[in-house]
Amino acid sequence: MLGKLYRCFIKPVLGLNFNTSNQMLYAIFIGIVFGLIFREKVVFIKILGDIFIKMIKMTVVPLIFISVTHVFCTMQDTLKFGKIAIQCIVIFLITTCLTSILGISFALMFQPGVNTGIDPNAFAIVTKTTQSVNEVKLSGIIADIFPDNPFKSFAEGNILQILIFAIFFGLSVNFISNKTKNVVIIVNELADVVFKLVAIVIKFAPIGIFGLITYLAATQDPTALISLLKLLVLVYAAGFVILLIFYPLILLAFGLNPIPFIKKIFEVQYFAFLTSSSTATIPLTKFTSEKNLGVTEGTASFGVPLGATINMNGTSLHLGLTSIFLAQVAGIDLHFTQYINIVILCIVLAVGTAGVPAASLLMMPVILIAIGVPPEYVGIYVGIDRFLDMLRSIINVSGDALTCVIVDKIGKRLDIKKYNSKKTEKFIGHK
Ligand code: ASP
Repeated sequence: MLGKLYRCFIKPVLGLNFNTSNQMLYAIFIGIVFGLIFREKVVFIKILGDIFIKMIKMTVVPLIFISVTHVFCTMQDTLKFGKIAIQCIVIFLITTCLTSILGISFALMFQPGVNTGIDPNAFAIVTKTTQSVNEVKLSGIIADIFPDNPFKSFAEGNILQILIFAIFFGLSVNFISNKTKNVVIIVNELADVVFKLVAIVIKFAPIGIFGLITYLAATQDPTALISLLKLLVLVYAAGFVILLIFYPLILLAFGLNPIPFIKKIFEVQYFAFLTSSSTATIPLTKFTSEKNLGVTEGTASFGVPLGATINMNGTSLHLGLTSIFLAQVAGIDLHFTQYINIVILCIVLAVGTAGVPAASLLMMPVILIAIGVPPEYVGIYVGIDRFLDMLRSIINVSGDALTCVIVDKIGKRLDIKKYNSKKTEKFIGHK
């Protein structure tokens, strides 16, 4: 009855189209209005966003395990995979290094932390996030990739460990394929089930987005925004340089037209922007890479979750730029060797940053300690971190898809016709 009323009277008058992606747009708009008007009275609505993010994350572990196992069960040439893995990691590291250098250069050129009038002590709150430099060591990060107990890895949602276990599990099935035909069939069918599960959860996106945006609009402090406007504008400007110049140049260098990439990655960026989480965006990044950008299932199943865990171009940009900003606020002059140190730390820390909201807040103190800035200066920009995080997450997820495209282009596996095609499959609202 209500549906009929809506179709006969409201829809023609308002011209509204209530598919899932439009519902998300309306949810953003209503959330902003709601949050700004009712402020702390509607903070409880955050629970809707929290539930949605949890449900999306609920799909991530099975999705990664099943899809990677599926690829390795049926893979003919396992050596080829080693090549894909190495190429992904090399591209991740090079782009992370370059984006941190870009961040540092922007901070040095535009000096966002000079004459800001910010009193660091007034902002400084002692964050519980301070880690000592020793805690984040590359050797520790590498050793941690390998699981000692796969069930623990599943329970903790440790993506890298799940990836490694899925690779070995899939290969074991593959190596005795004459005895494991049924396992391959089951994994195949489970892959379809998990995909359906993701599609069902995505239907709730508008409600979740409404919760997230209402909370954001209700709790952000506009005064923090104003005093840190220069930092915010600069980080966004540097971010757009990456998205609209750096990434397209990489695609051009490998003989690909950047326009289809920019258009097709938009839905993924939109989702990362709203959730501020590369991990929660994994299903969508994988779907878009495979269905719309012409990446093979093998590369996307492995490259996307790996990228969501270790490839953080947006995070390294932010760590580089904002750490220099804080040094400028503190009036500390840095030497050339310290800049090199920042670049190295940005790469290592970006690798260690989890793909969840505000994860790099945990990493910033490590850089600050290394360059002699009090770690509690993180408190200076904590109030606007969510806005910075939205951009970081967009850049991070775009970099994951970009790497998969480049790796498949190098290996002559990329479906160029699909990459260039104007037709796209929609993830949000996918049946
Ligand atoms: N939120 C970011 C991501 O999920 C990580 C960060 O805080 O930089 O990619």
